[in-house]
Amino acid sequence: MIGAMENLTVEQKAALCIGADFWHTAAVPGVPSILVSDGPHGLRVQPGAGDHVGLGGSLPATCFPTAAALASSWDPDLVREIGEALGEEARAQGVGVVLGPGVNIKRSPLCGRNFEYLSEDPHLAGVLAAALVEGVQSRGVGTSVKHFAANNQETDRLRVSAEVDERTLREIYLPAFEHVVTRARPWTVMCAYNKVNGVYASQHGWLLTTVLREEWGFDGVVVSDWGAVADRVAALVAGLDLEMPPNRGVSDRAIVDAVADGSLDEAVLDRAVDRMRTLVERAHRPEPGEAFDVDAHHALARRAAADGIVLLRNGLPGGGGHDPEDRILPLHDSPSLTVAVVGELARTPRYQGAGSSQVNPTRLDVPFDELVTALPRATVSFAAGYALDGPGDRALSDEAVALAAGADVVVALLGLPAVEESEGFDREHIDLPTAQLMLLSRLVDTGVPVVVALAHGGVVRTDPWEHRVAALVECWLGGQAGGGALADVLTGAVDPGGRLAETIPLRLADTPSHLNFPGEEGRVRYGEGVFVGYRGFDALDRPVAHPFGHGLSYTEFAYSALTVAVDGTDVTVGATVTNTGGRAGREVVQLYVGDPQCSVARPPAELRGFTKIALEPGESRTVGFTLGARDLSFWSTVHGGWVVEPGEFEIAVGASSRDLRLCRTVTVDAPLPRRALTADSTLQEWLADPDRGPELRAAAGPGILQDEELLRVIGNFPLGRLAAFPGIGISRETLTRLGA
Ligand code: BGC
Repeated sequence: MIGAMENLTVEQKAALCIGADFWHTAAVPGVPSILVSDGPHGLRVQPGAGDHVGLGGSLPATCFPTAAALASSWDPDLVREIGEALGEEARAQGVGVVLGPGVNIKRSPLCGRNFEYLSEDPHLAGVLAAALVEGVQSRGVGTSVKHFAANNQETDRLRVSAEVDERTLREIYLPAFEHVVTRARPWTVMCAYNKVNGVYASQHGWLLTTVLREEWGFDGVVVSDWGAVADRVAALVAGLDLEMPPNRGVSDRAIVDAVADGSLDEAVLDRAVDRMRTLVERAHRPEPGEAFDVDAHHALARRAAADGIVLLRNGLPGGGGHDPEDRILPLHDSPSLTVAVVGELARTPRYQGAGSSQVNPTRLDVPFDELVTALPRATVSFAAGYALDGPGDRALSDEAVALAAGADVVVALLGLPAVEESEGFDREHIDLPTAQLMLLSRLVDTGVPVVVALAHGGVVRTDPWEHRVAALVECWLGGQAGGGALADVLTGAVDPGGRLAETIPLRLADTPSHLNFPGEEGRVRYGEGVFVGYRGFDALDRPVAHPFGHGLSYTEFAYSALTVAVDGTDVTVGATVTNTGGRAGREVVQLYVGDPQCSVARPPAELRGFTKIALEPGESRTVGFTLGARDLSFWSTVHGGWVVEPGEFEIAVGASSRDLRLCRTVTVDAPLPRRALTADSTLQEWLADPDRGPELRAAAGPGILQDEELLRVIGNFPLGRLAAFPGIGISRETLTRLGA
């Protein structure tokens, strides 16, 4: 039982709010300490010296697929299972709070930490992160949703100010946090390092209190990112409860002094202490003998990695993969099959990113070994082809080309070396290493079909070469069992379940944030506004290499029987999906909404629902979605809230953001949002108001307001200014009569 507040001195209260060491909260009389640990895809409990970049060793834990891979599963049930497993591992290692998930939006493919984040889309990120939180917390272990907010780059991450307007924050950068907080009630939220519109996230009262607590009802602890606190007292006042790691002797002193000199109300400190006590009370106490099932968790990691593998292309060069005869995958095991596995990454897999999320895996699947096991009758051989670091190596390349030339099929594992992407810095380009590209070119020149499997955390450019390969398989950083998962997908033991959670552009320069990333002179301007990822590509009508939501199966699906019922702002959608191919497979059915007639610029289509279904050959299923007012709304700065404008909306169901198979335009009847009309409102705004417009016309009398052509010319004058113009009928008296 946690001790009473009144028994604590100000010094003890301050201590409770700044932690004890790198990973522990402070113990004060009646309140024991708890252990917190990274991170999103596996635990990093450091028995020795603590650090936030994975320098020191950590206890073995299951390295599940990174967020980039997990998000590609579009499967909240699977993500919940992973959360449960993380919760079990946390209990076994005495961890009270797992520091994840990371729900920052992938604003640019260059962000070095994109592997740790889920998506460019807030709906997908929010739904999946909520599932992870529910899973972990179902085991009596807390989570920390991070990094709140607008932490979308690593460049200058501890100081940079994200300059982002409120509509963009509300529609793009906050909803994933909002969804997790309101649906899954995480025990903690971790604030970001950066500033948001000039104010450190760690001392941002609007973010940490107005939005997070007052609007969303968050009742847990706000913890700082490690080292994010610039001014401890300002942070406490803004709503930041726990500073980590503790800046001992400085932060506690600042709090104690501020209470003593009256500049900090002790009640503010008590509020944070109360939240800390609740957190500690909630947290599971380590019990002797708790362990986790290493084999079962490895098997889950393998299933999850396969579920996140995205088959981007499957067809011989020249064909589009539409004719099943053209398809190279899956590989069929047979004594007459010879497979050349090429690429150092097949022997030295890259399966997770660097930095604070780095896990010490319980075991590690090697892709080449897994392929040998999965194709027992075939001849499967290996050549490294390139070295992971350094320039191209002619001898390695020659050896690989010779092996390839004698094979029926080449499986080339390509990707980014660890030095190219990490927490702490952003990437400068999105190309594969030159040595790998040169090798690939030589491999395809042999005429033997080449299957490329990619391992990396942030998007890489595929356009220059992918039309020359027979199949392209996107594995992301798939965790410790990624090698087995790849073998499962390549051999067809598992249908490729993944769909892109982010757009693959043709060129870096096409990406909507390109001219405003990573900013300059301490500021990064989110100039593309709400047009992030596919929202921007679609609005600009730019071609992409692979659109958001794309991913192939080994079977085909037909969409039919769209139903849309509208009742006020409630929209119910149904669609039937049929497996028309010859194999069982999984499809992610996606629902997009567009508002083409809106008074503000909106993306042509935004993801508002999705569901993943498994269908046997010939099987059909009807899926349903329910939309509410929020799904149709935009954030209006004029109205200071969510607004649905009545009129036409486009409802589309399909297999990706650019493969919308069923579309319907519906009319939504909602009350017209009313503006408060003043002397500063324009003539047009007054006339558009169903009540005040006729009142104005009556007050102005016959004359110019009846002349539609002239109205177009003077319509954008604020009413108050028109009072100075003779002959219009809008005098000072008219304004007074209208209360303007
Ligand atoms: C990262 C956090 C992490 C913390 C503790 C920071 O550098 O940004 O995501 O939880 O370190 O390792």
